Amino acid sequence: MKKSEVFHAWARILAGRAPSLSIEITKECPLRCPGCYAFDPAHLGGTRQLRQLSDFQGDELVARVLALIDEHKPLHVSLVGGDPLVRYRELELLLPQIENRGVHTQVVTSAFRVIPAAWMNFKKLNVVISVDGLQPEHDARRKPSTYDRILKNIKGTRVTIHCTITSQIAERTGYLDEFLRFWTSQPEVAKVWFSIFTPQRGATDPEILTPAQRASTIAGLGQLRLKYCTLDMPEAVIREMEFPPKSPKECIFSRTTETISADLKRRVTPCQFGGDPDCERCGCIASMGLAAVGHFRVLGPLTAGRIFMASDRLGKAWKGFSRILSRKPGVQVELSPFNILEP
Ligand code: SF4
Ligand code: SF4
Repeated sequence: MKKSEVFHAWARILAGRAPSLSIEITKECPLRCPGCYAFDPAHLGGTRQLRQLSDFQGDELVARVLALIDEHKPLHVSLVGGDPLVRYRELELLLPQIENRGVHTQVVTSAFRVIPAAWMNFKKLNVVISVDGLQPEHDARRKPSTYDRILKNIKGTRVTIHCTITSQIAERTGYLDEFLRFWTSQPEVAKVWFSIFTPQRGATDPEILTPAQRASTIAGLGQLRLKYCTLDMPEAVIREMEFPPKSPKECIFSRTTETISADLKRRVTPCQFGGDPDCERCGCIASMGLAAVGHFRVLGPLTAGRIFMASDRLGKAWKGFSRILSRKPGVQVELSPFNILEP
């Protein structure tokens, strides 16, 4: 992130706005992956499930997504689902318009469809392909988006591979090394990211790592980052996995990212997992990345995280206060007392 972008992110936080937006642009997905959080009954808080929402298609979807982006003015938007490539025609219309707004975009997909090589002309786009381990395990979990299909569909592109480490992966010595060797040798792969499977509180999914598996996985990642230049995980980020936030309140990622579900209204809280995620067993790379930024010492004992938490409280308090004032007849309130910081 450039210095100017950090400054803009801070300005948005002070204005009570999230600098990052994640939009589930469709409820549909041709896959049925075990452990998928989007289709977990707890994802939307237990009252409704993702597949029960009414979602949008065509020009209406494009217009509504752009309206959300114009309303929230994020610095970064993740287009997720379901699988966003279900709406590939709409993505073709959305991506250039989001890029024109100067917003960084991430499309997270299983690559069940071709990723157009022309997308590589977008300067602010990152395409992230979810891969669940080596070919035998991945193909069993992610049919029809098998290894062969992914390799065919990413030809001529540059992508990031994201693998969520499950207990089944963690129990086999050398597994991540083999995984990195394979994907690093693919010319289309620019970066590899790992997350550790994050359960809901009290869940007993077979994917959950034991404490011993978690510790040895984290130690292993520390060594693998020295061996593979594609493993885009600084040491500080890997270290955060040892001590994840205790609750969403302590999670900078959850506090800086607004997640909106497929009806383009409903908020997914407290983070993209929804429901009641077990923060103390979280292994989400985005959360760990921002936690590492939060522990950066700006001056003496003062960390970036402390400045952020104070700014976030101030921004949210101001937003609430300005809403109350705006309801009074004849009173007009600017969004932020820090408008001078707004780009
Ligand atoms: S591809 Fe993603 S959204 Fe679809 S079932 Fe798998 S994990 Fe869930
Ligand atoms: S992303 Fe943040 S809020 Fe969500 S489970 Fe992880 S630590 Fe908790």
